[in-house]
Amino acid sequence: MHQPASPPAYFPAPRTQRYCSQCGSLLTRRIPPDDTRVRDVCDNCGAIHYQNPRLVVGTVPVWEDRVLLCKRAIEPRLGYWTLPAGFMELGETTSLGAQRETLEEAGLQTEPGALFSMIDVPQADQVHCFFLTQVVDGAFAPGPETLEARWALEEEVPWDDIAFRTVSITLERFFADRRAGSFGVHYLSLPPRRA
Ligand SMILES: [Zn+2]
Repeated sequence: MHQPASPPAYFPAPRTQRYCSQCGSLLTRRIPPDDTRVRDVCDNCGAIHYQNPRLVVGTVPVWEDRVLLCKRAIEPRLGYWTLPAGFMELGETTSLGAQRETLEEAGLQTEPGALFSMIDVPQADQVHCFFLTQVVDGAFAPGPETLEARWALEEEVPWDDIAFRTVSITLERFFADRRAGSFGVHYLSLPPRRA
C-alpha cells in the first residue's frame, strides 16, 4: 500500500453524504415532506440521513494554582494551545468523555468534576463542555495529538495562541471565578452561522 511521505492534509469530516448508508444509492439534498430543513434523502429506499450537532468534551485540569494547557499536534489549529478536549464517543457520558480525552491527550488521570462551561458553537455545529477537575499529582504524559503540555499560571497563559474561542472563554471565566472565590456554571453561545 502506498505510504505518503508526509502526513495527509487536514480534511474535516464531511457533514453531508453522497451515498445512502442503507442501500448505497446516490443521495439527493432536499426538504422531505413534513420537514422544514434540507436533508440528505435517498430516493431509492426512502432513508433520511439526519445530521445533528456534535459534542466536544474536555476538562480544566487544576493543580495547585495552575491549569494544564496542551499544544496541539494535529489540525485544526496545529501548534496552538488548548485545554484537553475532543469529540464525545458513542456510549459514554460527557463527564467520562472529558476524562478520557484528558488521559489520551495529556496522559493525566482525573476524577469526575463539576460542569464548568457549556458553549454553543453553531458555526461549527458543535457544543463544547468543560469540566473542572482538581488533580493531586501534576504528573502528565502528552499523547500523540499533543506536542507538549504545560502547567500554566494565569500570567503564563498564551492568550494570543489559544486554539479555540471556547477554550479562551473557559479559561477567562475560570480565572475570574477563582478571583471571586466561587465557581459557577457558564452557559453561552457563540454567534450563529451567517445565512
Ligand atoms: Zn437508500
